[in-house]
Amino acid sequence: MPDVVFTVDQSKSMRDQAVPGHNRWHPDVPAAVTVRPGQQIRVECREWTDGQIGNNDSADDVRDVDLTRAHMLSGPIAVEGAEPGDLLVVDILDLGPVQAPQEYGDAPGQGWGYTGVFAKANGGGFLTDYFPDAYKAIWDFSGQVATSRHLPGIRYTGITHPGLFGTAPSAELLERWNTRERALIATDPERVPPLALPPLEANTLGGTASGSVAEAIARDGARTVPARENGGNHDIKNLTRGSRVFYPVHVPGAKLSGGDLHFSQGDGEITFCGAIEMGGFIDFHLDLIKGGMETYGVTTNPVFMPGNVEPRYSEFLTFIGLSVDRETDENYYLDATVAYRRACLNAVEYLKKFGYSGEQAYLLLGSAPIEGRISGIVDIPNACCSLYLPTAIFDFDVKPSSAGPTMQDRGQCAVTS
Ligand code: ZN
Repeated sequence: MPDVVFTVDQSKSMRDQAVPGHNRWHPDVPAAVTVRPGQQIRVECREWTDGQIGNNDSADDVRDVDLTRAHMLSGPIAVEGAEPGDLLVVDILDLGPVQAPQEYGDAPGQGWGYTGVFAKANGGGFLTDYFPDAYKAIWDFSGQVATSRHLPGIRYTGITHPGLFGTAPSAELLERWNTRERALIATDPERVPPLALPPLEANTLGGTASGSVAEAIARDGARTVPARENGGNHDIKNLTRGSRVFYPVHVPGAKLSGGDLHFSQGDGEITFCGAIEMGGFIDFHLDLIKGGMETYGVTTNPVFMPGNVEPRYSEFLTFIGLSVDRETDENYYLDATVAYRRACLNAVEYLKKFGYSGEQAYLLLGSAPIEGRISGIVDIPNACCSLYLPTAIFDFDVKPSSAGPTMQDRGQCAVTS
């Protein structure tokens, strides 16, 4: 059995845990625990907003979510003998919602999770120009299966994975991040949603740091939303059980931290809060490849081997999108973002024919095990992206046929008041 090295009481904020975690990246966040290479460990996690979202039928909590508190990470976990230049070998042995058997309660992960569409004025999302308001779907867990009262007619096996794990940055790497992200923000500082999130002292949690160290973490610590050279918020759905990740080590001890567990997620996590978000546990085996960064040329981003425990869907309805704006017909040059957005919009329009609202379809595409692919990126001027929707997640026939779509009243997702 793994050693439980980071515990969480789900009735309390991460701030009030016996050993609190952190919500900024900084080399000086003190290690919460030190483990040995070869050790199997269990890490308990809060849901990423630290419990701001409730199991109810209103999306007001998603609209009003305080993003300065996110992501609440468990750790840092120091690994004996790890030095800058090593690769930290992280095997994901197991993960899941809060405890097993499942514990029911008010915190996401206690038998339930949620998917949110962030409002354009507070976070936004991939289709925020089409869906500027906040929406939410609550999912109930039954073993590996998720169903939602807000999305009737749908039932699927989750592709369970951590959204966010990474090592601590060095002081030099952190400085590079802050410099380049501030330069990006400066190109359009008033943009809504913003181009990036600079360090912010409000609501910083620096683990057990105090005094001048805590002040430095609050002043300079990098926000956790984007993935960077330390790993971080990849939101790669294929980091399932059985995955092996090779993280660059930038500081002594490596200082692995993470959280943001997802019961499921579609490629792209398109609503921004598009996974099924939950608290829970994750079990790791940790090891080191000494000097591995130079040996393998893995000096910037991690490499990984996907896990072999995934839902097995074999039939898909695939939507295609090209790099042409839907409203203006403006042609973009090999722009995969524009092309994937069109693929998503095409899927939304299709699902509306079966009685789902656009918002329901958007929530579904963010959370179900959807495959998103860059199919063609050379055929000037149009990038071609594709979105693979598993047909078996619907309890009706979702395929086109001469009989036409089964139009039904499919209720609605949680909306704001
Ligand atoms: Zn997440």
